[in-house]
Amino acid sequence: MFDTNLTTDRPSYVTHLQCSATGERLPADTLQSLSPAGKPLLVRYDLERMAREWARADAEGRPADLWRWRELLPVRRVKDIVSLGESETPLIPLPSAGGPGVLVKDEGRLPTGSFKARGLVMAVSMAKALGVKQIAMPTNGNAGAALAAYASRCGIETVILCPEDTPDVNVREIALQGGRVWRVNGLIDECGAIVAEGARQGRWFDFSTLKEPYRIEGKKTMGLELALQLGWRLPDAIFYPTGGGTGLIGMWKAFDELEALGWIGSERPRMYAVQAAGCAPIVKAFDEGADHAERWPDAHTVASGIRVPKALGDFLILKAVRESGGRAIAVEDDATLAAVAEAARQDGLLLCPEGGATLAAYRKALAEGWLGSDEQVVLFNCATGLKYPMPAVERTLDRHAAIDFDAL
Ligand SMILES: *Cc1c(COP(=O)(O)O)cnc(C)c1O
Repeated sequence: MFDTNLTTDRPSYVTHLQCSATGERLPADTLQSLSPAGKPLLVRYDLERMAREWARADAEGRPADLWRWRELLPVRRVKDIVSLGESETPLIPLPSAGGPGVLVKDEGRLPTGSFKARGLVMAVSMAKALGVKQIAMPTNGNAGAALAAYASRCGIETVILCPEDTPDVNVREIALQGGRVWRVNGLIDECGAIVAEGARQGRWFDFSTLKEPYRIEGKKTMGLELALQLGWRLPDAIFYPTGGGTGLIGMWKAFDELEALGWIGSERPRMYAVQAAGCAPIVKAFDEGADHAERWPDAHTVASGIRVPKALGDFLILKAVRESGGRAIAVEDDATLAAVAEAARQDGLLLCPEGGATLAAYRKALAEGWLGSDEQVVLFNCATGLKYPMPAVERTLDRHAAIDFDAL
């Protein structure tokens, strides 16, 4: 395959890493997890120089995949990129949703069937560049699958811990893609505590959400793609199913970088962080006006990708949502599953439960008058619906008996 995005090294504009809470600077190109303050690190670029040397039209003229954004990404050398073909994902209209401007960004088409591929292709490529040999991660499923795939591809060993009720398909795909996967009798943060202890013992590098700086950089390409796909105009609102919040934080960062480059103006979409009513720590903190979220007890929801009782980047999620004029919205599982069924039946689009949650939240926002039906809205479908349980079909046909064609 001929792919001009991965045939030559391009200039890298990375200058340093920066603590998302204190602003402290750390050197790039060294292995880092959290900042000295224990907060996520953000990758910083020389955007002034980039603005002089790189133009919107240059990015537009390249093949439509994640690597067209090379200058805005941290991997310096092509030989470190561990790609499985991270294509741009389409924006699909959802006419039955009630508004003419409702678009679904269908992330289920990425490698390993979810948008976790965006974050993990970046984080694993950087781990490879920095000489990491062992990685461990707590996961609700999709992140582990993407980690296993990319790490196996470049010879990095992985230990992956899942809550015991993680969907079977996720556990199996992780194992088949070479990850040493274990079911743990606890939630994702309890799996994370075991991973953190192993990292303290020097057994592996901790790849928990936001504990390394590069997953955000991969996930921010969702925001870059959206801007390009919509003709350098952002939508009125974005509905994002929020677990650890990497994508929401990443897109918010992407919009600032695009503005610094002069590729978009100062307008921003309202960011709606969507959570399940059975696990809604960000919604509770938003409603209470808090900067940080408390751990959600007894977290439960069919949307396992957003079953995250405590997010390390809670303050970054809340800040982006508030600055954007959006809000955090909780939806019941019933509404989520009804939304999945409706989109499938009426629009032929099979959403994952987390994607269904965004549609249910959009409906709720319309009903509450938080947005108008004429606004342009992007809903994130973060994984292929084929990975999740579907209602059983009991009908059978006996080809030896008389067929009642009217009944078919
Ligand atoms: C991980 C995941 C989410 C949550 O994404 P974050 O960026 O971590 O908040 C939502 N849906 C699915 C299917 C996921 O795998």
